[in-house]
Amino acid sequence: MKAAVWYGRRDVRFQDIPEAPAPGPGEVKLQVGWCGICGTDLHEYAAGPIFTQVNTPHPLSGRMAPLTPGHEFAGTVVEVGPHVTGYKVGDRVSPNPLLRCGECVYCKQGLPQLCTGIGFLGCHSDGGFAEYVTLNVTRGTNPIPVLYKLPDSVSLEAGATVEPLAVAVHAVNRGKLLDGETVVVVGAGPIGICTTMAAKAAGASQIIVLETSAGRRAFAEKSGATAAIDPRSTDAIKAVQDLTNGLGVDCAFECVGAEPTLKLAVDSLRKDGRAVVVGIFEHPAALDWFPIVFFEKTIIGTFAYVNEFDTVIEMLADGRLQPDPMITGRIGVKDIVAGGFEELLNNKEQNVKILVSPS
Ligand SMILES: [Zn+2]
Ligand SMILES: [Zn+2]
Repeated sequence: MKAAVWYGRRDVRFQDIPEAPAPGPGEVKLQVGWCGICGTDLHEYAAGPIFTQVNTPHPLSGRMAPLTPGHEFAGTVVEVGPHVTGYKVGDRVSPNPLLRCGECVYCKQGLPQLCTGIGFLGCHSDGGFAEYVTLNVTRGTNPIPVLYKLPDSVSLEAGATVEPLAVAVHAVNRGKLLDGETVVVVGAGPIGICTTMAAKAAGASQIIVLETSAGRRAFAEKSGATAAIDPRSTDAIKAVQDLTNGLGVDCAFECVGAEPTLKLAVDSLRKDGRAVVVGIFEHPAALDWFPIVFFEKTIIGTFAYVNEFDTVIEMLADGRLQPDPMITGRIGVKDIVAGGFEELLNNKEQNVKILVSPS
Protein backbone atom coordinates (compact mmCIF):
# COMPACT_ATOMS: atom_id res chain seq x y z
CA MET A 1 0.00 0.00 0.00
CA LYS A 2 1.05 3.61 -0.52
CA ALA A 3 2.23 5.37 2.62
CA ALA A 4 4.45 8.11 3.99
CA VAL A 5 7.10 6.72 6.36
CA TRP A 6 9.08 8.73 8.95
CA TYR A 7 12.71 7.59 9.11
CA GLY A 8 14.21 10.63 10.81
CA ARG A 9 14.45 14.40 10.78
CA ARG A 10 13.82 15.73 7.23
CA ASP A 11 13.53 12.12 6.10
CA VAL A 12 9.91 11.21 5.41
CA ARG A 13 9.61 8.89 2.39
CA PHE A 14 6.73 8.06 0.08
CA GLN A 15 6.84 4.27 -0.18
CA ASP A 16 5.02 1.14 -1.17
CA ILE A 17 4.88 -0.85 2.07
CA PRO A 18 3.12 -4.11 3.04
CA GLU A 19 -0.60 -3.54 3.53
CA ALA A 20 -1.79 -3.09 7.14
CA PRO A 21 -2.56 -6.59 8.48
CA ALA A 22 -5.96 -8.21 8.71
CA PRO A 23 -7.45 -7.30 12.09
CA GLY A 24 -6.75 -9.64 14.99
CA PRO A 25 -8.92 -9.98 18.11
CA GLY A 26 -10.14 -6.56 19.24
CA GLU A 27 -8.93 -4.86 16.06
CA VAL A 28 -10.53 -3.06 13.12
CA LYS A 29 -9.01 -2.27 9.73
CA LEU A 30 -9.78 1.11 8.14
CA GLN A 31 -9.30 2.45 4.66
CA VAL A 32 -8.15 6.02 5.20
CA GLY A 33 -10.08 8.74 3.36
CA TRP A 34 -8.25 11.89 4.44
CA CYS A 35 -5.58 12.59 7.04
CA GLY A 36 -4.67 16.13 8.11
CA ILE A 37 -1.12 17.35 8.71
CA CYS A 38 -0.82 18.48 12.34
CA GLY A 39 1.75 20.77 13.95
CA THR A 40 3.04 17.61 15.64
CA ASP A 41 3.69 15.93 12.27
CA LEU A 42 5.44 19.09 11.09
CA HIS A 43 7.66 19.25 14.19
CA GLU A 44 8.58 15.57 13.82
CA TYR A 45 9.51 16.22 10.18
CA ALA A 46 11.49 19.42 10.83
CA ALA A 47 12.99 18.75 14.27
CA GLY A 48 12.14 15.18 15.32
CA PRO A 49 12.26 12.80 16.96
CA ILE A 50 10.32 14.69 19.63
CA PHE A 51 7.53 12.24 20.42
CA THR A 52 8.22 9.61 17.76
CA GLN A 53 9.17 6.23 19.22
CA VAL A 54 12.78 5.38 18.34
CA ASN A 55 15.25 2.69 19.51
CA THR A 56 12.84 0.60 21.61
CA PRO A 57 9.32 -0.55 20.75
CA HIS A 58 6.42 1.25 22.47
CA PRO A 59 4.95 -1.09 25.12
CA LEU A 60 1.35 -0.70 23.90
CA SER A 61 1.92 -1.03 20.15
CA GLY A 62 5.20 -2.95 19.95
CA ARG A 63 6.20 -0.48 17.21
CA MET A 64 8.99 2.04 16.70
CA ALA A 65 10.36 4.12 13.80
CA PRO A 66 10.32 3.83 10.86
CA LEU A 67 6.61 4.59 11.31
CA THR A 68 3.75 6.06 9.28
CA PRO A 69 2.82 9.41 10.88
CA GLY A 70 -0.63 11.03 10.95
CA HIS A 71 -3.30 11.04 13.64
CA GLU A 72 -6.00 13.39 12.27
CA PHE A 73 -7.94 11.11 9.99
CA ALA A 74 -11.23 9.62 8.95
CA GLY A 75 -11.85 6.45 7.02
CA THR A 76 -14.13 3.53 6.28
CA VAL A 77 -14.19 0.20 8.11
CA VAL A 78 -13.11 -2.56 5.69
CA GLU A 79 -12.60 -5.48 8.09
CA VAL A 80 -13.62 -6.25 11.68
CA GLY A 81 -11.64 -8.65 13.87
CA PRO A 82 -12.98 -11.15 16.43
CA HIS A 83 -14.44 -9.86 19.72
CA VAL A 84 -15.26 -6.43 18.28
CA THR A 85 -18.82 -5.25 18.73
CA GLY A 86 -20.50 -2.06 17.58
CA TYR A 87 -18.69 -1.61 14.24
CA LYS A 88 -19.35 -3.10 10.82
CA VAL A 89 -17.82 -2.99 7.35
CA GLY A 90 -18.79 0.25 5.65
CA ASP A 91 -19.00 2.39 8.81
CA ARG A 92 -17.35 5.77 8.30
CA VAL A 93 -15.37 6.72 11.40
CA SER A 94 -12.87 9.10 13.00
CA PRO A 95 -10.48 7.53 15.51
CA ASN A 96 -9.42 9.00 18.83
CA PRO A 97 -5.68 8.48 18.32
CA LEU A 98 -4.66 8.14 22.00
CA LEU A 99 -3.11 4.76 22.81
CA ARG A 100 -4.01 3.96 26.40
CA CYS A 101 -3.29 1.04 28.69
CA GLY A 102 -6.74 0.69 30.23
CA GLU A 103 -5.18 -0.40 33.53
CA CYS A 104 -3.82 2.73 35.22
CA VAL A 105 -5.73 4.93 37.64
CA TYR A 106 -6.36 7.60 34.97
CA CYS A 107 -7.65 5.16 32.35
CA LYS A 108 -10.01 3.72 34.95
CA GLN A 109 -11.20 7.25 35.75
CA GLY A 110 -11.99 7.82 32.07
CA LEU A 111 -9.05 10.18 31.49
CA PRO A 112 -7.12 8.40 28.70
CA GLN A 113 -5.19 11.58 27.86
CA LEU A 114 -3.47 11.22 31.23
CA CYS A 115 -2.68 7.47 30.90
CA THR A 116 0.67 6.65 32.52
CA GLY A 117 1.63 4.52 29.50
CA ILE A 118 0.23 6.91 26.89
CA GLY A 119 1.05 6.69 23.21
CA PHE A 120 -0.22 8.33 20.06
CA LEU A 121 -1.11 6.95 16.65
CA GLY A 122 1.48 8.15 14.18
CA CYS A 123 4.16 8.66 16.85
CA HIS A 124 4.03 5.36 18.74
CA SER A 125 2.25 3.20 16.17
CA ASP A 126 1.42 3.50 12.47
CA GLY A 127 -0.94 6.35 11.64
CA GLY A 128 -3.09 7.71 8.86
CA PHE A 129 -0.78 8.76 6.02
CA ALA A 130 -1.33 5.32 4.47
CA GLU A 131 -4.07 3.59 2.51
CA TYR A 132 -4.98 1.31 5.42
CA VAL A 133 -4.57 1.32 9.23
CA THR A 134 -5.34 -1.53 11.62
CA LEU A 135 -6.30 -0.32 15.09
CA ASN A 136 -6.94 -1.93 18.45
CA VAL A 137 -10.42 -0.66 19.38
CA THR A 138 -10.91 -2.58 22.62
CA ARG A 139 -7.86 -1.99 24.82
CA GLY A 140 -8.45 0.69 27.41
CA THR A 141 -11.72 1.76 25.85
CA ASN A 142 -13.97 1.47 28.86
CA PRO A 143 -15.46 4.10 29.09
CA ILE A 144 -13.82 6.08 26.24
CA PRO A 145 -14.13 4.49 22.76
CA VAL A 146 -11.50 4.63 19.98
CA LEU A 147 -13.77 4.89 16.91
CA TYR A 148 -16.50 7.50 16.43
CA LYS A 149 -19.07 7.04 13.66
CA LEU A 150 -19.69 9.84 11.19
CA PRO A 151 -23.27 10.48 10.06
CA ASP A 152 -23.92 10.73 6.29
CA SER A 153 -23.94 14.52 6.54
CA VAL A 154 -20.29 14.64 7.73
CA SER A 155 -17.79 14.00 4.92
CA LEU A 156 -14.52 12.12 5.38
CA GLU A 157 -12.80 15.46 4.76
CA ALA A 158 -14.64 17.05 7.68
CA GLY A 159 -14.02 13.82 9.61
CA ALA A 160 -10.28 14.46 9.32
CA THR A 161 -10.75 17.70 11.28
CA VAL A 162 -12.54 16.05 14.22
CA GLU A 163 -9.30 15.45 16.16
CA PRO A 164 -7.95 19.04 16.16
CA LEU A 165 -11.47 20.33 16.82
CA ALA A 166 -11.70 17.93 19.78
CA VAL A 167 -8.51 19.51 21.17
CA ALA A 168 -10.24 22.90 20.91
CA VAL A 169 -13.56 21.79 22.38
CA HIS A 170 -11.69 20.15 25.27
CA ALA A 171 -9.81 23.44 25.86
CA VAL A 172 -13.10 25.36 25.87
CA ASN A 173 -14.55 22.80 28.30
CA ARG A 174 -11.46 23.09 30.53
CA GLY A 175 -12.02 26.87 30.56
CA LYS A 176 -15.70 26.31 31.52
CA LEU A 177 -16.61 28.91 28.90
CA LEU A 178 -20.16 30.19 29.30
CA ASP A 179 -22.59 31.53 26.73
CA GLY A 180 -22.04 35.28 26.29
CA GLU A 181 -18.54 35.42 27.76
CA THR A 182 -15.69 37.33 26.13
CA VAL A 183 -12.63 35.53 24.80
CA VAL A 184 -9.07 36.18 23.65
CA VAL A 185 -7.28 33.59 21.50
CA VAL A 186 -3.52 34.11 21.28
CA GLY A 187 -2.11 32.60 18.08
CA ALA A 188 -4.10 31.67 14.95
CA GLY A 189 -2.31 28.52 13.89
CA PRO A 190 -4.48 25.43 13.32
CA ILE A 191 -5.27 25.01 17.02
CA GLY A 192 -5.95 28.74 17.49
CA ILE A 193 -8.34 28.64 14.51
CA CYS A 194 -10.06 25.52 15.89
CA THR A 195 -10.31 27.18 19.33
CA THR A 196 -11.85 30.28 17.74
CA MET A 197 -14.50 28.07 16.10
CA ALA A 198 -15.11 26.14 19.33
CA ALA A 199 -15.48 29.39 21.34
CA LYS A 200 -17.96 30.68 18.78
CA ALA A 201 -19.91 27.42 18.95
CA ALA A 202 -19.96 27.75 22.75
CA GLY A 203 -21.63 31.16 22.41
CA ALA A 204 -18.77 33.57 23.17
CA SER A 205 -20.01 37.14 22.65
CA GLN A 206 -16.60 38.43 21.52
CA ILE A 207 -13.57 36.51 20.25
CA ILE A 208 -10.49 38.69 19.95
CA VAL A 209 -7.62 36.93 18.17
CA LEU A 210 -4.05 38.15 18.67
CA GLU A 211 -1.82 37.04 15.79
CA THR A 212 1.19 38.55 14.01
CA SER A 213 0.55 37.04 10.55
CA ALA A 214 -1.92 38.99 8.38
CA GLY A 215 -2.88 35.85 6.46
CA ARG A 216 -3.75 34.02 9.65
CA ARG A 217 -5.69 36.98 11.02
CA ALA A 218 -7.81 36.74 7.87
CA PHE A 219 -8.42 33.00 8.52
CA ALA A 220 -9.36 33.84 12.13
CA GLU A 221 -11.94 36.35 10.93
CA LYS A 222 -13.45 33.74 8.60
CA SER A 223 -13.62 31.32 11.53
CA GLY A 224 -15.58 33.51 13.93
CA ALA A 225 -13.16 36.08 15.38
CA THR A 226 -14.94 39.38 16.08
CA ALA A 227 -11.59 41.21 16.04
CA ALA A 228 -8.11 40.18 14.90
CA ILE A 229 -5.23 42.26 16.18
CA ASP A 230 -1.50 42.28 15.41
CA PRO A 231 0.19 42.46 18.84
CA ARG A 232 3.41 43.70 17.20
CA SER A 233 1.95 46.86 15.73
CA THR A 234 -0.81 47.53 18.28
CA ASP A 235 -0.94 47.66 22.08
CA ALA A 236 -2.98 44.46 22.21
CA ILE A 237 -3.88 44.64 25.90
CA LYS A 238 -5.19 48.19 25.54
CA ALA A 239 -7.14 47.12 22.44
CA VAL A 240 -8.69 44.20 24.37
CA GLN A 241 -9.64 46.51 27.24
CA ASP A 242 -11.15 49.04 24.81
CA LEU A 243 -13.33 46.26 23.39
CA THR A 244 -14.46 45.03 26.82
CA ASN A 245 -15.47 48.21 28.70
CA GLY A 246 -12.00 48.49 30.19
CA LEU A 247 -12.30 45.11 31.93
CA GLY A 248 -10.39 42.50 29.92
CA VAL A 249 -11.87 39.17 28.82
CA ASP A 250 -13.42 36.37 30.85
CA CYS A 251 -11.32 33.62 29.27
CA ALA A 252 -8.08 33.60 27.24
CA PHE A 253 -6.61 30.69 25.26
CA GLU A 254 -2.85 30.55 24.76
CA CYS A 255 -2.36 28.56 21.52
CA VAL A 256 1.34 29.17 20.83
CA GLY A 257 3.47 27.88 23.73
CA ALA A 258 5.91 30.73 24.43
CA GLU A 259 6.59 33.24 27.22
CA PRO A 260 5.43 36.43 25.43
CA THR A 261 2.17 34.84 24.27
CA LEU A 262 1.48 33.39 27.72
CA LYS A 263 1.90 36.92 29.11
CA LEU A 264 -0.53 38.29 26.50
CA ALA A 265 -3.11 35.68 27.49
CA VAL A 266 -2.83 36.40 31.22
CA ASP A 267 -2.66 40.19 30.81
CA SER A 268 -5.76 40.23 28.59
CA LEU A 269 -7.90 38.77 31.41
CA ARG A 270 -10.33 40.65 33.61
CA LYS A 271 -10.07 40.15 37.34
CA ASP A 272 -11.28 36.60 38.16
CA GLY A 273 -10.56 35.57 34.53
CA ARG A 274 -9.28 32.16 33.35
CA ALA A 275 -6.30 31.53 31.06
CA VAL A 276 -6.35 28.13 29.35
CA VAL A 277 -2.91 27.08 28.14
CA VAL A 278 -3.15 24.94 24.99
CA GLY A 279 0.28 25.64 23.40
CA ILE A 280 3.12 23.15 23.74
CA PHE A 281 6.07 24.89 25.43
CA GLU A 282 9.58 24.01 24.25
CA HIS A 283 11.15 26.05 27.07
CA PRO A 284 10.17 27.06 30.61
CA ALA A 285 8.31 30.40 30.67
CA ALA A 286 8.37 32.94 33.50
CA LEU A 287 5.20 34.72 34.54
CA ASP A 288 4.55 37.70 36.83
CA TRP A 289 2.45 36.04 39.52
CA PHE A 290 1.57 39.24 41.37
CA PRO A 291 -1.49 40.13 39.21
CA ILE A 292 -2.51 36.46 39.16
CA VAL A 293 -2.68 36.43 42.96
CA PHE A 294 -3.95 39.99 43.43
CA PHE A 295 -6.67 39.74 40.74
CA GLU A 296 -7.61 36.11 41.40
CA LYS A 297 -6.80 34.88 37.89
CA THR A 298 -6.80 31.16 37.15
CA ILE A 299 -4.29 29.33 34.94
CA ILE A 300 -5.57 26.05 33.46
CA GLY A 301 -3.64 23.40 31.52
CA THR A 302 -5.35 21.37 28.82
CA PHE A 303 -4.13 18.39 26.82
CA ALA A 304 -5.70 16.52 23.93
CA TYR A 305 -9.27 15.41 24.73
CA VAL A 306 -11.33 13.02 26.78
CA ASN A 307 -14.45 12.09 24.81
CA GLU A 308 -15.21 15.30 22.90
CA PHE A 309 -15.27 13.45 19.55
CA ASP A 310 -19.03 12.78 19.66
CA THR A 311 -19.74 16.42 20.52
CA VAL A 312 -17.54 17.65 17.66
CA ILE A 313 -19.22 15.28 15.17
CA GLU A 314 -22.65 16.51 16.31
CA MET A 315 -21.52 20.12 15.87
CA LEU A 316 -20.14 19.34 12.39
CA ALA A 317 -23.42 17.67 11.46
CA ASP A 318 -25.60 20.60 12.59
CA GLY A 319 -23.27 23.27 11.22
CA ARG A 320 -22.12 24.83 14.51
CA LEU A 321 -18.60 23.91 13.43
CA GLN A 322 -17.62 24.65 9.80
CA PRO A 323 -14.06 23.58 9.09
CA ASP A 324 -14.01 24.43 5.35
CA PRO A 325 -12.22 27.81 5.64
CA MET A 326 -9.29 26.23 7.46
CA ILE A 327 -8.71 23.49 4.85
CA THR A 328 -6.17 25.27 2.66
CA GLY A 329 -4.78 22.34 0.71
CA ARG A 330 -5.65 18.84 -0.48
CA ILE A 331 -2.79 16.66 -1.73
CA GLY A 332 -1.93 13.04 -2.44
CA VAL A 333 0.43 11.23 -0.09
CA LYS A 334 3.20 11.14 -2.69
CA ASP A 335 3.39 14.95 -2.39
CA ILE A 336 3.47 15.01 1.42
CA VAL A 337 6.99 16.46 1.70
CA ALA A 338 6.95 19.20 -0.96
CA GLY A 339 3.21 19.92 -0.99
CA GLY A 340 2.65 19.31 2.73
CA PHE A 341 5.52 19.75 5.19
CA GLU A 342 7.63 22.18 3.14
CA GLU A 343 4.56 24.13 2.05
CA LEU A 344 3.46 24.54 5.69
CA LEU A 345 6.96 25.53 6.83
CA ASN A 346 7.54 28.05 4.03
CA ASN A 347 4.08 29.44 3.39
CA LYS A 348 2.47 30.02 6.80
CA GLU A 349 0.57 33.06 5.57
CA GLN A 350 -1.59 31.03 3.22
CA ASN A 351 -2.02 27.76 5.10
CA VAL A 352 -3.87 26.40 8.08
CA LYS A 353 -4.67 22.74 7.46
CA ILE A 354 -3.50 20.58 4.55
CA LEU A 355 -5.35 17.29 4.07
CA VAL A 356 -3.63 14.27 2.57
CA SER A 357 -5.37 11.54 0.60
CA PRO A 358 -3.41 8.28 0.71
CA SER A 359 -4.84 6.85 -2.51
ZN1 LIG B 1 -3.11 16.89 15.82
ZN1 LIG C 1 -3.62 4.00 31.32
